[in-house]
Amino acid sequence: MLRVARLAAGYGQSQALFDVTFDIAAGEVVTLLGRNGMGKTTTVRAVMGLLRPWSGEIVFDGVALAGLPPHRIARLGIGLVPEGRQVFPTLTVEENLIATCRPGRWTLSRVFALFPRLAERRRNLGARLSGGEQQMLAIGRALMTNPRLLILDEATEGLAPLVRAEIWSVIAALKAEGLSILLIDKNLAAVLRLADRHVVLEKGRTVWAGSSAALAAAPEVRDAHLHV
Ligand code: ATP
Repeated sequence: MLRVARLAAGYGQSQALFDVTFDIAAGEVVTLLGRNGMGKTTTVRAVMGLLRPWSGEIVFDGVALAGLPPHRIARLGIGLVPEGRQVFPTLTVEENLIATCRPGRWTLSRVFALFPRLAERRRNLGARLSGGEQQMLAIGRALMTNPRLLILDEATEGLAPLVRAEIWSVIAALKAEGLSILLIDKNLAAVLRLADRHVVLEKGRTVWAGSSAALAAAPEVRDAHLHV
């Protein structure tokens, strides 16, 4: 479904990605792992068209994405839950959701069924929500675009344990529905349970890729490249 090969990109003159390579099959949950500053968010930004790739391939369902603007990439079926949530602060919950709506299985009522808390808060402004509610709204907003691939960048970061658990159960439910997911998250135990495969980045390069079982059995990879 998504193939990223030999991706290089950066900011100004400063190169952040040198050789990022991975793929995601339909229905798979894949994580991008690596310590801070290794290029996970930059990879996501390049896939979404928020940063122009310098070289390499990004192909989604047979369409080359490099050079396409973000709205075209979103329309092709990739939904992003960005780092830091970035909900529209001056719009209500409902307006935030409607703003990104595209026809498909995900509707306002399905998002409200997934996150009853958002239904209770539907007339509240984005800026007035708690961190957990903003995160739910960011996920709901991405689902309203009816993506075939959902990218979650640090969706559980900085949340209280109960809210975090709710976000994990929602991600598991989306996986059970067959949605393809690219996940960035520091909670290794949670991603080992949930994801099918993992891709480890080190200084802008893919240095390891494998299944949860393979990663669980590779303490040297965790010691060398991850937080744990
Ligand atoms: P984190 O977990 O901290 O978000 P990350 O793996 O997502 O880490 P990136 O944010 O992709 O890492 O950063 C990769 C490299 O690019 C780092 O060296 C970082 O300093 C640099 N970088 C990130 N954003 C910018 C920017 N806007 N301008 C210049 N350099 C940047």
